Amino acid sequence: MGDDMNRTMRAFRLDGRVAVITGAGSGLGREAARVFAEAGASLVLVDIDTAGLEQTAALCKDATTTIETVDISDRSAVDALADRVVASAGRLDAWINCAGIGYMHSLLAADAERAAKLIAVNMMGAFWCCAAAGRVMREQGRGAIVNVSSGGGSGPARGVSIYGMTKAGVNSLTWTSAAELGPYGIRVNAVAPGWIETPMSSLMYRDERGEVDLTKRQAIMDQMEKVSPLGIVGEPADIAYALLYFASDASRYITGQVLNVSGGATI
Ligand code: NAP
Repeated sequence: MGDDMNRTMRAFRLDGRVAVITGAGSGLGREAARVFAEAGASLVLVDIDTAGLEQTAALCKDATTTIETVDISDRSAVDALADRVVASAGRLDAWINCAGIGYMHSLLAADAERAAKLIAVNMMGAFWCCAAAGRVMREQGRGAIVNVSSGGGSGPARGVSIYGMTKAGVNSLTWTSAAELGPYGIRVNAVAPGWIETPMSSLMYRDERGEVDLTKRQAIMDQMEKVSPLGIVGEPADIAYALLYFASDASRYITGQVLNVSGGATI
């Protein structure tokens, strides 16, 4: 019984493994870093926000962490990052694509510059990261890539337009990468979070000066509770545990899947 239990728990752990987490300077990426550190991984924390990365590294003090300030929309910078990871750590076991931006606007209010940035970061950034991780993992003959999508990528939601389009692209990227990289022992899955309170999602209840509108915040929390059959609002750890599952051997027979983690809001 004890041995069986150990075998089960071992399947979810990342001891001795090296994991890259993009977007690790804030929100869901930061929580993923904390959870992966507890699961035993050595971490490469990636973001454009260096101060945020330093705060995340401080939360993961029992793990080996490296900070990398990299813009994921810059293909050559992402390729160089993958090469640095392998040169210094000697391996790359998991790559979590969590970095993203959350400009929201409706179809009729779309702004060209922001639209281009959304596509460059959320969709092409994930694409270049999958390609760089896949190239390195192919040499090893194993690895797990996990993308962070959104419920907005697979269904309609007012005001989400281009953001939702980029996440639909992330879903497609997940399916295609899984098909192409599977023969090299590389799994590619995605987690699609429902609404989770983070600096990004807090933009929904902040005014132009960045001040929190408490009434608006409460209305959003109430609404999010209502859309979940469970009647609850998720927390960053709910997403991080799903990311851990896909990064670990516990999901070794799963690839090409997009898992909604939304309290059933996206059934
Ligand atoms: P967050 O708190 O804003 O964290 C995202 C991080 O990514 C930030 O530190 C951000 O830096 C960084 N980033 C932005 N552009 C980057 C770039 N070009 N290269 C490297 N890093 C970059 O947001 P979050 O809520 O944790 O979101 C994480 C992921 O979950 C995103 O892909 C988002 O679309 C997805 N998601 C979130 C929710 C939610 O409700 N929170 C729901 C569904 C999906 P800056 O702060 O400097 O921009």
